[in-house]
Amino acid sequence: LGIFWAACYFLYSRNDLALIFVGLFLVGICSYYSARNFSYAYLAGMAHALLLIVTLISLIDSPLENIPRSAHVFFLPLAIGVVFIFNPKDKYMGIIFPRFCLVFFAAFGVGLFDIDSSSFSPPENIRMIGCVSNYTFSTLILASIIRIYIKNLNEKVDLAFSLAQAVVKNEIMVHYQVQVDAKGKPLGAEALVRWNHPERGLLSPDKFIPLAEESLVIRDIGLEVLRQSCRLLAEWSNDSSLKDKYIAVNVSPVQLADEDFVATVIEVVQNFGVRPELIELELTESALIIDAEQAILKIQQLKDFGVQWALDDFGSGFSSLSIIKTLPVQKIKIDKQFIRDAKSNESSKNLLKKIFEISELLEMEAIVEGVEEHSQHEMLIDIGYSQFQGFLFGHPKPAPEVTEKMRSFLS
Ligand code: C2E
Ligand code: MG
Ligand code: MG
Repeated sequence: LGIFWAACYFLYSRNDLALIFVGLFLVGICSYYSARNFSYAYLAGMAHALLLIVTLISLIDSPLENIPRSAHVFFLPLAIGVVFIFNPKDKYMGIIFPRFCLVFFAAFGVGLFDIDSSSFSPPENIRMIGCVSNYTFSTLILASIIRIYIKNLNEKVDLAFSLAQAVVKNEIMVHYQVQVDAKGKPLGAEALVRWNHPERGLLSPDKFIPLAEESLVIRDIGLEVLRQSCRLLAEWSNDSSLKDKYIAVNVSPVQLADEDFVATVIEVVQNFGVRPELIELELTESALIIDAEQAILKIQQLKDFGVQWALDDFGSGFSSLSIIKTLPVQKIKIDKQFIRDAKSNESSKNLLKKIFEISELLEMEAIVEGVEEHSQHEMLIDIGYSQFQGFLFGHPKPAPEVTEKMRSFLS
C-alpha cells in the first residue's frame, strides 16, 4: 500500500502526501524484519509509527460532499492487533494504547476532527479509489488478525490438552545441569524440565511452563520433576563419590500457592528415602507476590523438614531486600543477566561485587548462573564467588550423562 500510494502521489506532484506513504512502506519493511527478530520494544515502536501515520492520513482525509472519510478505519486493526500482541499486564501497550486507537476511530468517524481540507486534499478521483482501498484493506487486515488469533488459540488449546496428559504418558523428561565450586568440582545439579512432545520433539520450559501454570498442570509436572530428582538422588546415595551431592528443583509460584504443597513434597521425599537436605528447592521472587506471608510459612515448614531453599534469578524481580532478608532461604542464585552485562560493562562488574557483599551481609550462599567463559569464571572467583553454573561447566543433560560426568570429575 505504501509503495502504491507514494507512487501515485508523486505522479500527482503531491510530495508531502507521498512522504507519509514512504513512511508506511518503511514500517512495512521493519515489520518484515521484526517478524524474524521478535521484540516487544520494537513492536511498540512500530505500533506508534502506525498510529502517527494513520492519524496524519486521517486528518487529510476529511470527508468531501460525495466521498466519505475512510482512512480512520485502520485504527481498528491497529487496536485489535496491539491487544493480541501485548499482555494486559503491560498497562500502556496492552490497555491504554488500543483504547486510544478506538477513541481516535470514533472521534474521526463522528467528524470531530473534520477540517476544511479542500486546499490540500488529494484529487477527488484518487480519493474515491482510496476510500474503496481503505475499507477493503482494513477489513482484510482485521480478518487476517482474527484468523491468526483463532489459529493461536486452537494451538494453545491443543497444547494444553496434550500437556494435561504429558505426566501420565511419561513425556516429562528431566535434564540436569551441574553446579560447581571454584575448582570446577561438582557440588550438585539443577533439574530442568523438558517435555518430550510426541510430534514437536523435546520442548524447552519456556514453551510450556507458562501454559502449565495457567492450567495448574504445573502442580503435576513439578511433582514429577521432584519424583525423578529423588529417584536420581536415591541412585547417587549408593555411590560413595555422589552420595553427598544435591539436586536443585525449580518450584513454580502456582505450586507454592497450593494448599497441599508442603505435604506432597514431604511425602515424595520420604517415599524415595532420600535425605531432605539433598533437595534444594528454587523459588523466584514472583512466588512472594500473591501472598508472601503464606509462602514464607510454607518455605519455613519445608525448611524445618530439612529441605534447602535457594532464591532463583536474584536481582531480576521487584522484591525489596528487607523482604528477602526475612526469607528462610540459604542461597541466592544471581541472574544470568548480570554476568552477561559484566562482559562489556564495568559498572555491571561492580554490581556483581556489591551483590556478593549483600549475600555476605544476608549470610546467604551465592551461586552465579550463566557462566559461559573462562574469563567470566576467573573474574567471579576474584570477586569472591565460589559456586557456579553455566554452559562452561556443562549443558543440561539427561541423568545418565550427568551422573557419568560428575563421577569422572570426582573420582
Ligand atoms: P532457571 O531456573 O533460571 O534455569 C536456568 C536456565 O538457564 C536453564 O534454562 C538453563 O539451561 C539456562 N542456562 C544454564 N547455563 C546457561 C549459560 O551458561 N548460558 C545461558 N544463556 N543459559 C544457561 P532452561 O532449562 O530453558 O529453563 C528455563 C527456566 O524454566 C528455568 O530458569 C526455570 O525458571 C524454568 N524451569 C525449568 N525447569 C523447571 C521445573 O521443573 N519447574 C518449574 N516451575 N520451572 C522450571
Ligand atoms: Mg532455577
Ligand atoms: Mg535462574
